[in-house]
Amino acid sequence: MKYTSTRDSSVRVSAAKAIAAGISPDGGLFVPCEIPVLTKEDISLMCDMDYPRRAAFVIGKYLDDYTQVELLEACRAAYSPEKFGDEDPCPISCILPNEYILELWHGPTCAFKDMALQLLPRLLAMAVKKEGISDESVILVATSGDTGKAALEGFCDVEGTRIIVYFPNDGVSKMQKLQMTTQKGKNTGVCAIDGNFDDAQNGVKKIFAAPDVKERLSAAGMRLTSANSINWGRLVPQIAYYVSAYCNMVAGSEIENGDEVNVCVPTGNFGNILAAWYAKKMGIPIKKLICASNANNVLTDFLSTGIYDKNRPFYMTSSPSMDILISSNLERLLYHLSGDCMEVKGYMELLGTSGRYEVSENIKELISTDFACGFCTEEQTAATINRTFTDCNYLCDTHTAVAVHVYSEYLSKEKDGRKVIVASTANPYKFADRVYAAVTGEECEGGGFEIMDRLNAITDADIPVPLSELRNAQIRHKNYCEPEDMVSELYRMLGA
Ligand SMILES: *Cc1c(COP(=O)(O)O)cnc(C)c1O
Repeated sequence: MKYTSTRDSSVRVSAAKAIAAGISPDGGLFVPCEIPVLTKEDISLMCDMDYPRRAAFVIGKYLDDYTQVELLEACRAAYSPEKFGDEDPCPISCILPNEYILELWHGPTCAFKDMALQLLPRLLAMAVKKEGISDESVILVATSGDTGKAALEGFCDVEGTRIIVYFPNDGVSKMQKLQMTTQKGKNTGVCAIDGNFDDAQNGVKKIFAAPDVKERLSAAGMRLTSANSINWGRLVPQIAYYVSAYCNMVAGSEIENGDEVNVCVPTGNFGNILAAWYAKKMGIPIKKLICASNANNVLTDFLSTGIYDKNRPFYMTSSPSMDILISSNLERLLYHLSGDCMEVKGYMELLGTSGRYEVSENIKELISTDFACGFCTEEQTAATINRTFTDCNYLCDTHTAVAVHVYSEYLSKEKDGRKVIVASTANPYKFADRVYAAVTGEECEGGGFEIMDRLNAITDADIPVPLSELRNAQIRHKNYCEPEDMVSELYRMLGA
């Protein structure tokens, strides 16, 4: 299986090369030249497998330059019960007769990015070896909170890698700071920046672009890489959990193999829902993909009109991981639907210059067969958390609530008797203050452990171990620097 670029059809690379490189030199994203197929028999076979086997099977269809032994070993290590608390890292929970919640947040940081970031480092380490690169990979991340911690956990003690995270000292929550500064691992480095997120991000961009940094690290046997959400190695693990969720529904006799289901996903960067689209195209019987947005509803408008326009107000919502105006993974969908990299390149150029483009009639029509969409206001998010807790005795976080609400709106418009899998992307304790306010109607200032304890006192939901452990965790990273000293701090942390 070869990969091409969304912006240059002459590109042909192996999966390992696509993962090691991250982004194509033409600025496009790597996409598989064809989408592999799963038959009904494959699904039956997978019903009898555990999660790591299912994941290795699905991922192996895309990464055919990795052996099954390599993939299975990586998946066993990534999705171990020690890290996810159970044999099944992403169980489903039925909250209404036709409505199932796919819990993607049982990993070490209690949010769905663990599902990808636990596996990516292993895929990357193998890719680098296959490409004949002997240098250690140094992953640099600037974070506004959650991604940094998920990357630290994912790369922690993965051989051949080092991970360095910069965060704005006053730009992350108390809990997020604690999560990062208590990070274990011989190969991890964390540094607070005296500045905001943009300062941290610009500093990292400068480091990536500096020839002298590259040279000095190379002399020390190291090379810089990024692990951001456009790497194919982050998307492919996500396809596996939609396949596995379907298998769980069949194995649990909720549906027959072959029955159609719907999938509803709270979306920001379009990565998670695109993974569900790949699962559908592989042959998983998914009827509609329902794209759920918060008040930043650029995708709702795009999917319903074909016009993408990022020129609009930006809202800071209670579902911050979806506060995004440029959904970078959408480029992959546009490529697959048009099959024309020049067309995609044109849209992306327009997005860069005017922030707006309109897709062809052909793409609009294809979108309307696969997708439905909707958005959820702040009031509706809180009301949904409250209603789901009261009526279904299920506590969901703010991001998940967006999807639950959008699906209920979809149902009120469409007479659709199919079962739905709603992707749940964070544990409610991760956003305890908003969830507490939604359940009780009372605002509670202060945040931190006190609010988690209060939420715990009024619900059956347990505080997840990775968050409660932070109460007594030892601070291991005390690095702090000015934005202009990020490079020297990098050399110091790496010993280069
Ligand atoms: C990242 C994130 C999302 C959005 O996922 P995309 O792949 O960017 O669409 C939703 N919920 C949570 C909790 C997240 O961390």
